[in-house]
Amino acid sequence: MDLYEHQARELFAKHGIVVPRAEVTDSAKEAREIARRLGGPVVVKAQVRTGGRGKAGGVRFAADPAAAELTARRILGTDIKGHTVGTVMLAEPVDVEQELYVSYVLDRAAGRFLAIASAQGGMDIEEVAARRPEAVARVPVDPAEGVTSSKAAEIAEAAGLPARTVDVLVRLWEVLVHEDALLVEVNPLVRTAQGAVVALDGKVTLDDNARFRHSRWGDQDTAHDDPLEAAAAARGLHYVRLDGEVGVIGNGAGLVMSTLDVVARSGARPADFLDIGGGASARVMADGLSVILSDPAVRSVLVNVFGGITACDAVADGIVRALEAVPLTKPLVVRLDGNNAARGRAILAEYAHPLVRQATTMDGAARRAAELATAG
Ligand code: GDP
Ligand code: MN
Repeated sequence: MDLYEHQARELFAKHGIVVPRAEVTDSAKEAREIARRLGGPVVVKAQVRTGGRGKAGGVRFAADPAAAELTARRILGTDIKGHTVGTVMLAEPVDVEQELYVSYVLDRAAGRFLAIASAQGGMDIEEVAARRPEAVARVPVDPAEGVTSSKAAEIAEAAGLPARTVDVLVRLWEVLVHEDALLVEVNPLVRTAQGAVVALDGKVTLDDNARFRHSRWGDQDTAHDDPLEAAAAARGLHYVRLDGEVGVIGNGAGLVMSTLDVVARSGARPADFLDIGGGASARVMADGLSVILSDPAVRSVLVNVFGGITACDAVADGIVRALEAVPLTKPLVVRLDGNNAARGRAILAEYAHPLVRQATTMDGAARRAAELATAG
């Protein structure tokens, strides 16, 4: 679960990391009041769960409370990279001397964490990482040892961060551990003209598997920015919206991932990612299809299922019953393989829906779905 910036900064503050004074609102009128409380000039920041807000016009300076109201009105309700701005945060401006980058991220492949840090933080960090990788230090962190003062000093040294960041690096690790996060990122962490180290922005991804330990997380769960993602989550489906035209349904994250790759190689782009998991029942299939068909960007749907514990004839039955419940409005390509594949294919062949086509291989299915999505 990704947190909003204002939630991330709360966690930082709780663990003793300095953040600017700030308040959140969904009303432009109230923004004026908040600016007055904060002393006049403010930075108005769109609260959306995506990065790059600065470059997209979602972070703006306002010189006084009247300007804060106008600026909040201008940002609220706009779209930032597919996310509608529902609230803004108004923060006391900080006199920035230097922008730094620090993060801890789980390195699944290595079975440990990675500290990533740079003395050249800010909005161009991706470019810095791509063009001058030597300016971005990557230091492995053993989860059992964590980030002690000496480890923090090692990270700061490797990245060329000022010595004052050592304490912040230790506290940021405490945020990761105590809040059960998989990612904590501060960009920019700034050195102010007065010599303080302040977290100006924050990104935190909490580990959903630790939910049972945090009763406070409950209400944030359904706060999906994307209405289709919210609808899918409400039905217990793992759905992620992408920006292409082929709707992809598969069972198991690995199969779905490789299906996305094969679709991309066939000359189309996946519109989404829906993992129906192990139990591809009629109900799950119907829910999944209705979510995907309601996305206007989808021009064809590809169902790629490898029957294991759930046999292909059960999946085919599920598709047939789903199509009885959800009228098919776009072509559907189905590839069934594995356990009871022949029986599954026979069920679909007999059903003979004019918009349903079958393919025997994953490549063939992806090619067909890509053709259907890009034709005309
Ligand atoms: P992002 O673009 O979504 O990462 O949003 P940020 O919160 O990181 O803001 C973008 C940029 O705005 C930062 O990199 C800073 O350069 C600048 N910025 C944000 N808040 C302040 C502030 O209080 N003072 C100053 N001087 N710059 C700020
Ligand atoms: Mn940032």
